[in-house]
Amino acid sequence: MYIKANDTCPPFYWYLVSTTDNRSGLPPPGTANGGVPPPRLPDVTPTRLAIVFNRPYPCTYLYNGDMTTLRSTVLSPGHIYPGHPEEPRRFTLLDRMPVSAIENLEAAPASLDEIALVHEPAMIEAVRLASQTGPAIIDYAPTYVTPTSFEDALLAAGATLALTRAVVHKEAENAFALVRPPGHHAEPERAMGFCLFNNVAIAARAALAEGLDRVMIVDFDAHHGNGTQAAFWHDERVAYFSSHQGNIYPGTGWIEETPHARGRIVNAPLPAYAGDAAMARLLETVIHPMAERFWPEMILVSAGYDAHWNDPLTTLGFTTDGYFAVSQALVGLAKEFCEGRIVFALEGGYDPHNVANGAAAAFAALTGQPSRPALVDGSGLGNGDANPHPEPDIEARIHKIRQFHGLE
Ligand SMILES: [Zn+2]
Repeated sequence: MYIKANDTCPPFYWYLVSTTDNRSGLPPPGTANGGVPPPRLPDVTPTRLAIVFNRPYPCTYLYNGDMTTLRSTVLSPGHIYPGHPEEPRRFTLLDRMPVSAIENLEAAPASLDEIALVHEPAMIEAVRLASQTGPAIIDYAPTYVTPTSFEDALLAAGATLALTRAVVHKEAENAFALVRPPGHHAEPERAMGFCLFNNVAIAARAALAEGLDRVMIVDFDAHHGNGTQAAFWHDERVAYFSSHQGNIYPGTGWIEETPHARGRIVNAPLPAYAGDAAMARLLETVIHPMAERFWPEMILVSAGYDAHWNDPLTTLGFTTDGYFAVSQALVGLAKEFCEGRIVFALEGGYDPHNVANGAAAAFAALTGQPSRPALVDGSGLGNGDANPHPEPDIEARIHKIRQFHGLE
């Protein structure tokens, strides 16, 4: 149960209050009430106390400790182009996910002002016009638009934003935005790489606008999130980590690419079939030290399930077990640094089995399950999907990343 801004608490009733939100013991001002930003969260270990109200009192941020995991799904059925892998079929197995205790949040479109937190007005208008006269291919990736794409992209960004705000304000513990079109290739001035608006970057800016000071984005899609990197190139309030397969689209994401942002924008290009062990090592030796240095207040995850070894577009070698392990580690990181605040948003992943299995693994981690659920039927992989390819050693590469970013 949650009591949201402007609700009224009944008198003589016990509630649990996070003292990190409310050190005075009185309800803090709500953002929905006069636009007052939430209080900055102090860097202290959360403790809780019970307080009693002896009269009706407007409440914000009160909860009973039984926090919720939210999801929002934006299928965008009209955003489809003949033969293109970024298609609604990617979502066809999501309803077979063996997950429960997830609340659904109905998506509402982002406003143009919210999209403009990241994108130039001229770019937004260009996407709108191209969509209006679509279908059309708008870049070499190829990225396409159809007559519904502009509204679809507003909805994808809006869902990610709404979940992020809910988690910032502790109306939910964590969340996953299962949305398309994806976002991490979309730069402030151009749509690209199957992406129209950068859902995660917009959500990060919105979290900052809601009062947070530092947001960390972890991007484990098989491709480099050039758009997210570009959005925060000079924004020291946001740290960005990307693991991706080297030498593939979009051609960015090299180790030495960000000398101005050492330790803050960290790229880990990996060899083909690097696999789960590589990601586990990166979590331990790069991502955790980054968080220790940056001390984020929230983690956003660009979750791409195209890093699975049998994805039709890439060959990075992850498995569903690996996706569960990375999801679990990131949820743990959020608990360690951010009072649990973490929101996943879908990026790539072009085999519907991998999308459903990866998302189910993420939900298992978000809800604190000790293991991932069984794989969805029909993948032909049984309940194991081990990487059949040899995994190259990446220790020299990790050493180079740690050295370049001063993480040793
Ligand atoms: Zn990708």
